[in-house]
Amino acid sequence: MPAPELLVRGGPLWAGPGSWWPQGAVAATGGVITYAGPAEGAPATAERVIEAHGGLIMPGLVNAHCHGAMALFRGWADDLPLEVWLQEHIFPAEARWINEQTVELCTLLAAGEMLLAGVTTVGDAYFCMHGAARAYEQAGLRALVGQGLIDFPAPGAPEPARNLAVCREFIEAWQGRSELITPGVFAHSPYTCSPDTLRGAAALCAELDCRLFTHLAETREETAQCRARHGRSPVGHLESLGLLERLDAAVHCVWLEPGEEALLARRGVAVIACPESNSKLGAGWADLTGLLAAGCQVALGTDGPASNNDLDVLSEVSFAARLAKVKTGDPAALPAEQALDLALAGGAAALGLTGVVGRLEPGYGCDLIVLELNQPHLTPLYDAASHLVYAASSRDVRQVVVAGRQVVAERRVLSFDLPGVMARVRELAGRVAAGRPGEGA
Ligand SMILES: [Zn+2]
Repeated sequence: MPAPELLVRGGPLWAGPGSWWPQGAVAATGGVITYAGPAEGAPATAERVIEAHGGLIMPGLVNAHCHGAMALFRGWADDLPLEVWLQEHIFPAEARWINEQTVELCTLLAAGEMLLAGVTTVGDAYFCMHGAARAYEQAGLRALVGQGLIDFPAPGAPEPARNLAVCREFIEAWQGRSELITPGVFAHSPYTCSPDTLRGAAALCAELDCRLFTHLAETREETAQCRARHGRSPVGHLESLGLLERLDAAVHCVWLEPGEEALLARRGVAVIACPESNSKLGAGWADLTGLLAAGCQVALGTDGPASNNDLDVLSEVSFAARLAKVKTGDPAALPAEQALDLALAGGAAALGLTGVVGRLEPGYGCDLIVLELNQPHLTPLYDAASHLVYAASSRDVRQVVVAGRQVVAERRVLSFDLPGVMARVRELAGRVAAGRPGEGA
């Protein structure tokens, strides 16, 4: 048998729940894993070898929902309710500063942040997504890129009547073009998209065979408004339109009515929870244990870096595990390995990438990270999942491989000039700050 193209070895391997070897190795060819298991069974050599130097080899993390380019507005407006934050701060700033060039630049910054935090797959939803798709392709990060859809003028789509045409053009341009990029549609929410817009999005996704996402039931106010306008809860509204079964994933689902968890499960809608963003906006917490008990696929997302304020999925996992215990009063709720898997197989399912990401097994994409274990806060090691959820930090990530390509080595991004991107974002942010209300310009 010819030597594989890539071999990662020299440390413990946690390949997924229940798959653990004190000394493991992963081999890959053509970006696909050909071996994952104990070191003694691994190929002896490869065209390229990455030594883990005692670090933990594990699957790359999935950030199932974010708005990467909103990194431009990180720290721009904090400590506000969602409605005020969106309507009075974010939407006006986006109208002024967001275009395809700024989306590409700021998504590159987000991609750099995520790669350094061990995220190898992302679900991103925003506007001007040609820019985002180019950024993720350049960064070497696997991405489900959702073109945003909303019923008022938005960056890159000034005429709401043409919004679906903008989505179609984006999907047709990117479908099958890149190994890493999958285009999709992100209908912003039932409160910003009319029933006709939502129906049109579902029909477009069915026609072009791509995935449909939306924000759903994020705040108590959204639920009350939906009841006043449509006579139903947000989930009930989509069900009455016949759209729930066409929806692939719903983001948030903080305010569900009794029985709606089971309805989402029956309709095959994955739920992407964003506990840190929801908490910061005072929106509440999704009931992850209730959703899982009802049979829902559950994934984790950071949401945008303007409401979180980072793109750190490992901290999201840790927060979700702790919140589940607070919400239920039960320390056994959402144990470590199950919490971690929300950012692995859960994320893969929400993004339609089951069998591709979330595990280190033959046939999966070679998306892996190596965590430095030789540190006081990770010593000793009894249980890798416990460390990852309760003790590790994304800053412990040392090496990152996506689709067999090494994109981070010793905490340095190899795929693009991240320091240069940071300098350009700082320069842009200087202009954004100068245009802030009350600060001239
Ligand atoms: Zn969001």
